[in-house]
Amino acid sequence: MRVPFFPLARLHADRREALAGAMLEVLDSGWFVLGPQVERFERDFAAYCGLPHCIGVGNGSDALVLALRALGVGPGDRVATVANAAAYSSVAIHACGAEPLFVDIEPERLLMSLASVEQALAQRPKVLVATHLYGQLCAIEAIAERCRAAGVALIEDCAQAHGARRGGRLAGAFGDIGCYSFYPTKNLGALGDGGALVTADAALARRLRALRQYGWTDKYRIEHPGGCNSRLDELQAAVLNAELPLLDGRNARRRAIAARYLAEIAHPAIAPIARGGQDDVFHLFVLRCAHRDALRAHLTEHGVQTDIHYPLPDHRQPGLQDAGAMPALPETERACAEVLSLPCHPVLTDAEIAHVIAACNAFPT
Ligand SMILES: *Cc1c(COP(=O)(O)O)cnc(C)c1O
Repeated sequence: MRVPFFPLARLHADRREALAGAMLEVLDSGWFVLGPQVERFERDFAAYCGLPHCIGVGNGSDALVLALRALGVGPGDRVATVANAAAYSSVAIHACGAEPLFVDIEPERLLMSLASVEQALAQRPKVLVATHLYGQLCAIEAIAERCRAAGVALIEDCAQAHGARRGGRLAGAFGDIGCYSFYPTKNLGALGDGGALVTADAALARRLRALRQYGWTDKYRIEHPGGCNSRLDELQAAVLNAELPLLDGRNARRRAIAARYLAEIAHPAIAPIARGGQDDVFHLFVLRCAHRDALRAHLTEHGVQTDIHYPLPDHRQPGLQDAGAMPALPETERACAEVLSLPCHPVLTDAEIAHVIAACNAFPT
């Protein structure tokens, strides 16, 4: 048996008519940028997140850049963030002319460690970006409280956490701004690039709305510096409107798969990092293994496709290094060498799940 990591064509196989219909509606409307589909998506996704404002943008990385700019980040500023989340936030921070201030992770769930957050806040960054990695909400209430006390703005990177909630609050509703990506493999995915920002703050929402479109407050009138062109287009918004009602059901399926992995993978060298619960939507099912590369080769031999999220921490990216000293991030370094992701997506079959579990348990160490 061959188990692909995430076969996107299979995800959409029973959605052909719904998605084609949504796209044809856009074609026939003759309205392709910032029209009724985007308006509807912004309204519905804001409501889904329990927030008053949603601003659709081109992709999740642009959402991070626009959030940083809206909070006043510019050259010379420092922004606290983790180094184990594929460098999306680091790239956005650099794009603003600012510098990342890296915080280490805790070893259980590989999320931003509170002790490290406190150390970083003592160095007075302009903003902190908290990433809900792999679909798990981080210690966001405590982080928000520390940020408020320190007078540091808080951005939540929710690109892996659509639908994750704690105490009735959704990812993105704890900080000043939540950033979402709708890249096709995300829990809510478009058929191309897409992104959004959510916020409770009306003034921030107005600024973000201007910044995504050249800094305009009105047609051809620029009042906000740092604007660009990053708009969610009507085709992707139409797809997202068709997909949003399926999000909770798909997340439930991801949780059920993860529950089986957690219950049935029993191997002394394999340690899943997940705990389960409503605050985890299992964007990825990640395990740690000291013999990661051997385990990966073994699974490949058994037809199980895996991936590594992520192999290289931000501070070791050749294109992101600045002149400063290499930060000490021991837990981040260790995690990058040990993490491995198993297939975990809404259209994984029971037979495939059983095959993955059997292959893991047969790992000869
Ligand atoms: C995917 C992702 C992004 C970037 O989103 P794009 O739409 O691909 O630009 C940012 N942060 C995290 C954590 C992501 O997983």
